[in-house]
Amino acid sequence: MEADPNPMVVLHACLGVGHLIPMVELAKLLLRRGLAVVIAVPTPPASTADFFSSSAPAVDRMAAANPSISFHHLPPPEYPDPDPDAFLQMLDTMRLTVPPLLAFLRSLPSVAALVLDLFCVDALDAATAAGVPAYFYYTSSAGDLAAFLHLPHHFATTEGSLKDMGKTPLRFPGVPPIPASDMPHTVLDRADRTCATRLGHYGRIPEARGILINSYEWLEARSVRALREGACIPDRPTPPVYCIGPLMAKGEEAANGERHACLSWLDAQPERSVVFLCFGSLGAVSVKQLKEIARGLENSGHRFLWVVRSPPQDPAKFFLPRPEPDLGMLLPEGFTERTRDRGMVVTSWAPQVEVLRHAATAAFVTHCGWNSVLEAASAGVPMLCWPQYAEQRMNKVLLVDGMQLGVVMDGYDEELVKAEEVEKKVRLVMEFEEGKKLRDRLTMAKEMAAKALADGGSSSLAFTEFLKDLNFGNTTKEKA
Ligand code: UDP
Repeated sequence: MEADPNPMVVLHACLGVGHLIPMVELAKLLLRRGLAVVIAVPTPPASTADFFSSSAPAVDRMAAANPSISFHHLPPPEYPDPDPDAFLQMLDTMRLTVPPLLAFLRSLPSVAALVLDLFCVDALDAATAAGVPAYFYYTSSAGDLAAFLHLPHHFATTEGSLKDMGKTPLRFPGVPPIPASDMPHTVLDRADRTCATRLGHYGRIPEARGILINSYEWLEARSVRALREGACIPDRPTPPVYCIGPLMAKGEEAANGERHACLSWLDAQPERSVVFLCFGSLGAVSVKQLKEIARGLENSGHRFLWVVRSPPQDPAKFFLPRPEPDLGMLLPEGFTERTRDRGMVVTSWAPQVEVLRHAATAAFVTHCGWNSVLEAASAGVPMLCWPQYAEQRMNKVLLVDGMQLGVVMDGYDEELVKAEEVEKKVRLVMEFEEGKKLRDRLTMAKEMAAKALADGGSSSLAFTEFLKDLNFGNTTKEKA
C-alpha cells in the first residue's frame, strides 16, 4: 500500500501534566520525521470543571510553549451525575469523550494512526469505528506495564483483594516481586468500581496494533523482554512493543528564555553538592511532614534545593490548584535563617529538568513519577525514592530492586517519614560507598539513555520500526 503523502497522526491525551509532557514530546518526534500531528485533548464536562480547573491552564501553557504543534480541544461531554471519586471522574470523562473523538477522526481527510494514552482505552472503539489503527503510548515504566498487563490473569486465577495481602510479594513476569501494598490504590479492592474499570482497561490493551513506551531498553531490559515474549498476557498475543524513550521536555529555560532564580543559586554551589527535593506536579506532604523534612535536611548538614507546595487541605481536592505556600507558617521557626547559606526553598514549582542537569545537583528526593525518573536517569542523578500516589510505589520497587538507581525513604507508607530517616538517607547517598555505587550506576544510565536516542540506538531504531508499521518507514530522516 502506498503511504498517504500527508499522513496525520492523532495523539489522544488525557488530562494531567505528567501525561501531557511525554505526549507533546512524541508529537515533536513525529513532526521531525515529517508527519502531520494533532493532539486531541478532552475538555472536562461542565459538572467537573472545578475539579479539573488546573488542567486547562496546563494545556494552554504547553500549547503556547510549542507553537508548531496543533492541539484540538474536543467538546466537553455531558456528565450530569459525576462520580464523587476524582480518578473515576477522569476515566468517565475519557470514556464520554469517545463520540466527540470519533467525530473528529471522521472530520479529517486521512488518519494514519490514533495514539492513545493508557487512560484513553475506551477510545479503541473510536479507532475501530473510524477504521484507523490504534496504538497505545504508555508514559510510565515498562515494568508497570508488564505488571498491569498480567493483572487480569492474576485476578482471574486468585481470590480476594490485594488490600488484604499486606506486603505479600506479587510475582509478575519481567519485574522484581512487588509487595501487594505497593500496588496502586486503584487496583487494591476487587469490589471497587475503579478496580473493575482498570482491569477492563488492561484487558483491552492487546486490541491495539502496538504499544509505544517512554522508556529505553537498557533501563528495563527484563521487563521489555517479558513483554516481547508474551509472558505478561498468558492467553492472547501481546502487540509489538516499541521503547522509544526517554522522551523528555527540554526544560522551561529553553522554552521561554527566562532563567529561574534557583538555577543562579545552583551556579554558586560546588559541583555535586546539592540534594534536590520535588514531588512531581501534584505531590505534596502534610505540615507535620514538611517540618520533619526540614529537620532532617538541617541535621544532614548538606546543601539542598527544596520545592515546597501547600499541603492538600482535603484529599478529595487533591487535583485542585493550591494556594502559594506560606513558608513562615509551614517550616520550623528559624529554619530558613539557619540554613540560608546552604539551602534554598522554592515555592510550588522549579524547572526540574534544568535542576537535574545542573552540575551542582547530587541527589534527588523524588515521588517516583515516571517523567521524574527518566529526567534523573538521563541526568545521572541518584534517587531517594519517596512514592506518593498512582503507580509510584511500583516504580520505587523497580528503581530500588530492579534498576538499582535509588534507595528508599523508609516510612513512605506510614504516617510520617521521620527526620532521622531523611538525614540518614541523604548522608548515605552523599557520603558513603553506597552513594558512590549509585552514582556509578547512574553515570551508566545517563550514557545509555543518550545512546538509545542517538542514530542507530535502540529507541531511535524502535521509533523507525513504529513508522514502518504505520507504512511510513521511508520518513526516517529527521527534519532539521
Ligand atoms: N515538574 C517540574 N517542576 C516541578 C514539578 C514537576 O518541572 O516543580 C515536571 C517534572 O520535570 C516532570 C513532570 O513535571 O516532567 C512531573 O511528571 P512525573 O511523571 O514525574 O510526575 P506526576 O506529576 O505525573 O506525578
